[in-house]
Amino acid sequence: MPLRDVEAQDHALDVLRRALTGGRVHHAYLFAGPDGVGKTLAARGMAEALLCGAPRPDGDACGECHHCKRARAGQHPDQHLIARQAKADGGLEQAIKIDQVRELQRSLSFKRFEAARRAVVIAEAERMNTSTANALLKTLEEPGEGTHFVLVTGAPHLLLPTILSRCQRVRFAPLPRPVVARHLQAGAGLDGDTADLVAGLAEGSVGRGLSLAKSPLLAERAELLAKLDDPRGLHDVAGRLDLAEALAEKKEDLPLVFHLLRTWFRDLMLVREGLPDERLVHRDLAERARARATQLNGEQILHRLAAINATERGVFEQAANARLALETLALRLAGAADARPSGDAARGVVRGGR
Ligand SMILES: [Zn+2]
Repeated sequence: MPLRDVEAQDHALDVLRRALTGGRVHHAYLFAGPDGVGKTLAARGMAEALLCGAPRPDGDACGECHHCKRARAGQHPDQHLIARQAKADGGLEQAIKIDQVRELQRSLSFKRFEAARRAVVIAEAERMNTSTANALLKTLEEPGEGTHFVLVTGAPHLLLPTILSRCQRVRFAPLPRPVVARHLQAGAGLDGDTADLVAGLAEGSVGRGLSLAKSPLLAERAELLAKLDDPRGLHDVAGRLDLAEALAEKKEDLPLVFHLLRTWFRDLMLVREGLPDERLVHRDLAERARARATQLNGEQILHRLAAINATERGVFEQAANARLALETLALRLAGAADARPSGDAARGVVRGGR
């Protein structure tokens, strides 16, 4: 697809169009930004624009010539697309292989076939290990006349500094919520309200939204939040511990559990500040949020957010026992720690719960 079909990335597209129309296309770009916001589409669009035989006045590909058509079909001999390869079981390889880079270098050593320029797109560039990246580096340093690279990544900090320093970075922003919602309605068949909720949770990423949309946890969201943020506080310790245990058993769901909790308490904070419902992630629960926000002060909400983040780090970065960590969190969210704002909240909960 041409660049003009990439949505809501005006800054990035301006940079690229200016380079294309000014005849100052850098030999290597790094398209950096969250996953699922159109970076790879834009990289393909840039490749099309570079190969097109009759570019438009704004530098974009015409979309009609045989270069454009072949590039779009992934069949242009001067377009090279490097990505993790598929495995026999249908999954993807962990990394881009050094052989793929060597094969690319062999192709680049021949003359161009048809187009005036040559375009190389490397998806998930952070998936190159050090030796693969070093192999690529040689080509990035001397790409040859008319050869242009676009490296795409959601994690630029994982790339070698030597690679980063040879690329011009183009930043891609999270997408506006309505844009994500529209894609979710079209791509995942969600109704308007669900698409809006998932788009709020997806934080500007269509890719993240599509994967969230598949989670069965989504249907239990309102109930789960009501249980974990129960205004009655610690009235049912056993029930809380059972819930924590059940959640811990599905570790793959935990990132979403933490995210739901975080966005819920963030919503409470926004409600307390008097911000309009449109700003909330859980807009459909706005009434509940308003009621709840009268019962918690800002500090209490911040304590809960801190507890959620600390538990998430514990489970995913420090390999804490998920059940114990979630049990503690479930108790901390019940609020007995509120009286000890500066102390160890977890110990406070246990003491208060006795
Ligand atoms: Zn064209």
